Amino acid sequence: MGSGGEEVIKILFPRILDHLSESKKRIMLTYPFVKLFMAGNLEPSIFLDDLKSFEEDLIKKGISKQEIESIKNFAFKEATNRKVFAEINSFRQKSLNSPQDWKNYWRIVGKYDKTKWYEEKEIRVYRMPNVNASVLPIVISGIKELLDELGLDFDIRNFGTHPSIIQQVNLSTMTDGKLNTSKLFLIQFDEDWRKNEKGGKQHADVVIVNQYLADSDSFWGGTIFQYGGMAISVLNQRQRNLNFIKNVAKHETAHLLGLGYHHDQINVRGYPSVRDCLTFHRCSSLIICQRCRDAIVAFWEGIQEGTGKRFFKRIRIIK
Ligand SMILES: [Zn+2]
Ligand SMILES: [Zn+2]
Repeated sequence: MGSGGEEVIKILFPRILDHLSESKKRIMLTYPFVKLFMAGNLEPSIFLDDLKSFEEDLIKKGISKQEIESIKNFAFKEATNRKVFAEINSFRQKSLNSPQDWKNYWRIVGKYDKTKWYEEKEIRVYRMPNVNASVLPIVISGIKELLDELGLDFDIRNFGTHPSIIQQVNLSTMTDGKLNTSKLFLIQFDEDWRKNEKGGKQHADVVIVNQYLADSDSFWGGTIFQYGGMAISVLNQRQRNLNFIKNVAKHETAHLLGLGYHHDQINVRGYPSVRDCLTFHRCSSLIICQRCRDAIVAFWEGIQEGTGKRFFKRIRIIK
């Protein structure tokens, strides 16, 4: 690919209608202001105003209040992203010509990030009752290994088969038995367990399920950083392959930490080419390459700068 930056930027922009059903998406797209906004041709503030004036109309057509709230939420995030677009664009034009450009790019993306789930530095891990109990500690070990290697300071909490997760997974399971991850992540994004005012606390949710992901039968995992959601799909006999499950969990953790691409999707000049990396789509390696490591570290340094909070452990082992 010629210009590496472009893809990263697209991935980082929230897809505001993703969590709606196909029929509701079609309803939304009958409104010109929605189409214009999605195509990048409408100011976010105007979009939010328009959304407000059409709210009653949307509710009449079957879009729920909660769904409208989520659209607002994502549009707000988009607005924040647009503010830094000019800054990011200067890196894009340089086509990420050196490791320094690459790190600067990620630091800026981190600095302006508005994601909430990481504020309390906690990751919760669950399994469905039909997933063998031995799988859960393997998933935790994969998550922990990457956090430790990067020196990031998160608590990983084992929630086992908590009733809340069973309910959320059931609500997100389609008639063919597959898991609709976008729906699950949105439910978790909006859950009271994450809200301070409802006695909850911000965190990411990792769930291990014994079913296919609707995205593709071949996927073993799916993660969206912006929602703080990760799903690991270990259907029946997959549960015997504990070594590979660890690879998948560690790979998905790279996504959970903000890396929204796979190693082989992007070129950055100045880094040696590698035969394998944790972030290759195939999850064949536990070793993260320097380039992907630099991206995640710079991203979290940027988050530290933007939030004024510390996410790295005080003592960092630099490899
Ligand atoms: Zn991946
Ligand atoms: Zn890599």
